[in-house]
Amino acid sequence: MTDIPLHLAAVHARIGAACKAAGRDPAAVRLLAVSKTRSAGDVAAAHAAGQTAFGENYVQEAVNKIQTLSHLPLEWHLIGPLQSNKTADVAAFFDWVHSVDRLKIAQRLSAQRPADRPPLNLCLQVNIDDEDSKSGCRPEDAEALARAVMALPGVRLRGLMAIPRPGNPLALTQLAALRERLLANIPALSAAGFDTLSMGMSDDLEAAIAAGSTMVRVGTAIFGERVKHVQEPGLT
Ligand SMILES: *Cc1c(COP(=O)(O)O)cnc(C)c1O
Repeated sequence: MTDIPLHLAAVHARIGAACKAAGRDPAAVRLLAVSKTRSAGDVAAAHAAGQTAFGENYVQEAVNKIQTLSHLPLEWHLIGPLQSNKTADVAAFFDWVHSVDRLKIAQRLSAQRPADRPPLNLCLQVNIDDEDSKSGCRPEDAEALARAVMALPGVRLRGLMAIPRPGNPLALTQLAALRERLLANIPALSAAGFDTLSMGMSDDLEAAIAAGSTMVRVGTAIFGERVKHVQEPGLT
């Protein structure tokens, strides 16, 4: 027995209500189910309830799940920090990477994307409000990074992502404004499909949707409280 279908329905209801309150079309906000630390069985249960896009933080854990569930038509997003020595696996197995914060990572993903796969969708992670965090490019560096990433083959620059500190709704507005600024300064971006603002989690998805999020990343509200990160015996 699992509550996942019920939880998913509740999250869709929250997204619908937030879109209504913000005067936005619910079809313009995608739900990414964050399945880090969850079993392949939990992912399959969410898929049976209609969920197709899943977000993962740890490359090896994700690759195990992706292989276990390769019979299902799932879309896999890497949302956790990415080290250079993991880019080949990510280029081979994922559909999206939200955590690109430097050119070297994008260049490796570009070079390593298998020729028989569609371009890998990338978001630039921006360190919008947390000086202590090492993840994310500085907002003032985002434009130069976007221009360089856009020029790479095998990848498609789709938008911006941030993980603001809890209780800082201003950061959500700032990320949305940064995306608008990049679109204005780099005309070719819209044609390239720069349509994504990846922000909002279980606790702040309403505020994120009000600020313009197009993809909310929700874990706990779908799968329950997380257990600590362990490799699952059935998946190794
Ligand atoms: C874990 C995680 C989420 C989901 O957080 P919840 O609070 O469980 O919804 C979203 N984004 C990133 C980058 C994460 O690491």
